[in-house]
Amino acid sequence: MPRNPRYDILFEPVQIGPVRTRNRFFQVPHCNGMGHLMPAAHAAMREVKAQGGWAVVSTEECEIHPSADLTPSIEARLWDDGDIPALALMCEAVHRHGALAAIELTYNGPTATNLYSREVALAPSHQPLKYGHPHQARAMTKRDIADYRRWHRNAALRARRAGFDIVYVYAGHDLSLAMHFLQRRRNQRSDDYGGSLENRLRLLREVLTDTREAVGDRCAVALRFATEEFLGGAGVSVDGEAREIVHQLADLPDLWDVNVAAWCMDSRSSRFAGEGAQRPFIEWVKRTTGKPVVGVGRFTSPDTMVQQIRDGVLDLIGAARPSIADPFLPRKIDEGREDEIRECIGCNICVTGDMLSAPIRCTQNPTMGEEWRKGWHPERIPPLGQTHADARVLVIGAGPAGLEAARALGQRGAQVILAEAESTLGGRVSREARLPGLAEWARVRDWRIGQLQRMGNVAIYPGNRLSAQEVLDFGAAHVVVATGARWRRDGYGRSNDLPIPGFERAHVYTPDDLLDGTEPPGPVLLYDDDGFYLGSVLAEWLRARGRPVVMLTPDDVIAPWTVNNLDYRHIQKRLRELDVRLFTAHQLLEFAGDHARLACAWSGREQRVECASVVTITARLPEDTLYQELHARQSEWTDAGITRVDCIGDAHAPGLIVHAVYAGHRYAREFDDLRSHEERVDSVPFRRQRPML
Ligand code: ADP
Ligand code: SF4
Repeated sequence: MPRNPRYDILFEPVQIGPVRTRNRFFQVPHCNGMGHLMPAAHAAMREVKAQGGWAVVSTEECEIHPSADLTPSIEARLWDDGDIPALALMCEAVHRHGALAAIELTYNGPTATNLYSREVALAPSHQPLKYGHPHQARAMTKRDIADYRRWHRNAALRARRAGFDIVYVYAGHDLSLAMHFLQRRRNQRSDDYGGSLENRLRLLREVLTDTREAVGDRCAVALRFATEEFLGGAGVSVDGEAREIVHQLADLPDLWDVNVAAWCMDSRSSRFAGEGAQRPFIEWVKRTTGKPVVGVGRFTSPDTMVQQIRDGVLDLIGAARPSIADPFLPRKIDEGREDEIRECIGCNICVTGDMLSAPIRCTQNPTMGEEWRKGWHPERIPPLGQTHADARVLVIGAGPAGLEAARALGQRGAQVILAEAESTLGGRVSREARLPGLAEWARVRDWRIGQLQRMGNVAIYPGNRLSAQEVLDFGAAHVVVATGARWRRDGYGRSNDLPIPGFERAHVYTPDDLLDGTEPPGPVLLYDDDGFYLGSVLAEWLRARGRPVVMLTPDDVIAPWTVNNLDYRHIQKRLRELDVRLFTAHQLLEFAGDHARLACAWSGREQRVECASVVTITARLPEDTLYQELHARQSEWTDAGITRVDCIGDAHAPGLIVHAVYAGHRYAREFDDLRSHEERVDSVPFRRQRPML
């Protein structure tokens, strides 16, 4: 289809110093948990974005010297010439598809760890390391400053040799020395690099000038700058010095990449920020500089993108998460297929990879991180092999696992029948998207339904709860059960090996009960032994219904795993705003009907809390009865025409939505794998890039 002329403006080229983009789509730097350790996987992941139409594809942070080592985070690395080939791999991959390659050089000073290098960290002034490691960074001497400038310059030269077109100077996210020198809280120097704004700005100005002198003949120099740290005068802020900083440096960089800091504010999940949320903090920048401006806002709507350009906010549409969820987003708009964009849901599972030093994963895009090691492409799957070419597959359950299995099998050409018990498709996604802040999660369902509706070879039957007999009577050769899971009611979980006394009483509810519409009587004791998002979301849901809520967790903090998806701080704040009474490091000993007995996890000291009901979030059990029944009747399969029955997603092992989508996709990808069971399970299911010996 031709492109909608309304979006033509998005496909105009932009001149950035000596280089020119093919359109306005800019994949800004983003971490991925592969970095310098998995260069082939990293290059392949970036390559699909270039192929998908992004005009610029950037690396993640790139360390420039061992004295600012980010271990255990796995980022890019340019410590010496030996690191060039790994990054050249990415440049070649990106250039193959006509995109520009950008690199974000960084030197993290007091926000580094040096756990690997054991070098002493450097900072504007003596100070503790930001991330809780119990040693300090030392104040830089003038000689250190000269060293740092030389390291940055050398890294820029290496970046040019690797083939990069845009070299970043990084002063964002409270993560790099160029920003730390700007901050009064980190810079307490009394020499000409401290005190006045002019002095605090000196280093950033010098590094920008050094970089331009080193590589500016061929590479554009970008400045990534956080305009707002939400720390008042202690940090960079729009109401403080940010405007003056942009004014002072206005045309020194070739490109301004502007956002807010720290990362938990920049990449807020959809629960805490909508599309374009950064606009108030960056919209003035373009009026202060003649150079192009790129910014982010989890943009997935081409109309919003056009608006940002027409309103003079941005010249280039920056994206990290939207490019992860759909590496082909620009191509889809270009080809008039914008309704096929796989929109990011803002769950921040992609962030958890970096936080946990594991390869990136995405809820919406199950191929993310699998481009090299499994050869998975986000848009293409080979048609089914000859032996399975006319396969007929019955998919039971239309949650994320079943929907993705049906979609990907449909794409491969199978005859698919998708049966769902409820009248609404989507399973847990449809249910959870009704909870406060999670509405965008419905995109997991909506994109898949949109794709399925285009396929003539997929039939969908909502409102059909299939029994084992009905499955046998149906007689599809391949049956895949994706019937989900239910929350336990007995209290068993990470912290309780046995049921909790009193949980057999009335007024003990599971998240499923609440999602079914039951409103527990208050005050409600919310027992969270899960530690991710659901506890705080249900607390919010209960408060919206006027229930007093006491939230209790055996963990030392509320929602500990949300540190990994950047929600942690926002959740702590929200729960306090909502007057939720919080007990951490407490065990629930008993629910007595009108009160509960708690004990401190460390002292054992007991106390009583009045409550009329309990909501328990501990563990789930697979809804696999149908699967078990079908296996019990295996002797009847041949007569019924069934050759295979599989179980995927939560019905196989309860997990997050990202796991269910992946399971559905994997089932479809491996559907025609002709190897025996033993051959499959005895081998490593992906390629690995081994360290050189
Ligand atoms: P997952 O996350 O693994 O996809 P969900 O719980 O989101 O799991 O979805 C499971 C879906 O399966 C639900 O929509 C549920 O209604 C449906 N389902 C459960 N049992 C049956 C059945 N016997 N026949 C058809 N659909 C079923
Ligand atoms: Fe968006 Fe979630 Fe995918 Fe990240 S993991 S890109 S937030 S859908």
